[in-house]
Amino acid sequence: MTLQQQQVTIPTVLVYEDDPGFPPQVNMPVPHPVPQLDTQPFPTAIAETAPQPDSAGPGTESFRYWVAADALSRASLTWGPMVPTGTQWHPQVGRALTAHLNVGVGLNAFYDRRGVSFLRQTVAGVTVATCESNEIVEHETGHAVLDALRPQLFNAASAEAAGLHEAFGDISALLSSLRLESLRTAVLAETQGNPEVSSRVSRIAEQLGWAIRQFDPTKVDPDCLRNMANSFFYRDPVLLEPSGPASMLTSAPHSFSRVFSGAFLKIVAGIFRQQDLQDQNGLGFSAEMAGQLLVDAVVAAPVVSAYYAQVAGHMIAADQRRNGGKYGPSLRSAFIRHGILSLEAAASLTEPEVSSRAAGITAAMPGGSDDLGLTAVSVPGAMYGIAQPLTLSAPAQERRFGIAGSDPAGGSVRPADPERVAMSFLEDLFRRGRVHVPEEHRSAMAFDDDSPSRLRTHEITSRTTGEGLALVRRCFD
Ligand SMILES: [Zn+2]
Repeated sequence: MTLQQQQVTIPTVLVYEDDPGFPPQVNMPVPHPVPQLDTQPFPTAIAETAPQPDSAGPGTESFRYWVAADALSRASLTWGPMVPTGTQWHPQVGRALTAHLNVGVGLNAFYDRRGVSFLRQTVAGVTVATCESNEIVEHETGHAVLDALRPQLFNAASAEAAGLHEAFGDISALLSSLRLESLRTAVLAETQGNPEVSSRVSRIAEQLGWAIRQFDPTKVDPDCLRNMANSFFYRDPVLLEPSGPASMLTSAPHSFSRVFSGAFLKIVAGIFRQQDLQDQNGLGFSAEMAGQLLVDAVVAAPVVSAYYAQVAGHMIAADQRRNGGKYGPSLRSAFIRHGILSLEAAASLTEPEVSSRAAGITAAMPGGSDDLGLTAVSVPGAMYGIAQPLTLSAPAQERRFGIAGSDPAGGSVRPADPERVAMSFLEDLFRRGRVHVPEEHRSAMAFDDDSPSRLRTHEITSRTTGEGLALVRRCFD
C-alpha cells in the first residue's frame, strides 16, 4: 500500500480546530483522523458512549463528542512530551481523566479531580455547549495537567497560585491550537508574522464570550472570553478589587491570569523572532519551547507569595540549563513588560546566579503530597458567618531568587506575607460568593445566598486532621 492510499483509508471525523467562533461568524469544521484518547502519560476518556465516526456536523451530539475527543487528545499530546518521566494524573483522578460532556445548564466548565465537566445553555437561539469548544476542553485539561505537576496549587489560598492555574489553562489552549500547522499558518497570516498581537489563537473561547455578553456586555472581552494579547501590568493581588469589568485587572483568578498568559504569548513571539526562519515551523518550535520552559518552572518553583515572579525566575533558569540562556532576552523582556519581574529583579538574575540555581533545579520532581510546603493559617470564622475557626493553606514564605514583581510607582513590590495573602484570598472568595458553607457550619450571621447559578469553587469542611474547619477547593472553572 502506498502512503497516499493509507492516508485515504484513515477514518476521519469533522471537528473544529479551535472554537465554534462567535455567531454569525461560525468557523468551518475540518476533517481530522479519529482521535486516540488512551495515550501516555495522560490518558483521557469520555463518559458518554462513542458515536460511530462519521461526518456529523455542528449541532449534533456526535459532532460535539468528536470535538471534545479531538481537544482532549490534542491537549494530552501537547503536554505529554514536556513533563518529567513518571508524571501521572493526580491520584484522585484515576488512570484516565474522564470528560462529562453534558452535566447541566450553564455557561461554564470545570475540573474537580474526578474529571472535567461541561455545561451548556441555549442563548439567543444558539446552543452553546462548552464541550464543543476545543479551547475550553483544552483549558480544563490544562488544569488537570498542572494539578498532576503541582498538586499543592489546588488548595493554596493565594490569588497568584489560582491565577497561574487559570493562565496555564489558557496556555494549554494556545499550545494545543499551535500544534496544528493550519492554525500556525492562519495566525502568521492574520498577525502579519507577529504572533504577539491579537489572533484567532490568542482569543480564547469566542463563542462562550459571545454568549456571556448577551447577559452582561462588560463581563468579558468584546470579541472573546479572554485575550492573551493584552498589556495587563502586575499588581500585588492583595491590593486589587475582588471583581470588575473585563477591561480592568482584578484579583479574580481568570482576570489576574491575564498578566501571566499575556507574558507567555510574548515569550512565544519573542522566541519566534529569534528563529532563523520566521515560518510556521519556527512558530511550532517556539510554542513547544515556551511550553517546555513553563513545565520545568512550575515543577521547580516553590509555591510562595509573589508566585508569578518565582515561576518567571525559574523559566529563565530552565532556559539557562536547556539552551545556555539563548532565550533569556525574550523571557526577561516579556516578564518586564507585564511587571512580573521588576527591572531590578530581572537585572539581579545574573548568569552565575541563574546557572547555580538551574543546576539545583534538575532534581525537581512533579507531584508530592497535596500540602507540601504550604503553611496552615488559622483565622476566626465569625466575620464570614462561620461558627468555628477556619484553617487556610497559605503559600510559604521561602523564596528562591529573592525576586519580585514591579511596583507601578517604580522599583519592586515587597511581597505580602503568607497570612495576608491567604486572608485576602478568602475575603475575595466570599465577596464573589464562591464558597459553599454547609448548614451545620453556619453561624447566626451567615450571609450565603445559595444562588444556584453561581459555581462554588470552594467549600468549608471539617478538618481531616486536627480540630475546627478548613477551606478546601472543589474545582477550577
Ligand atoms: Zn479555569
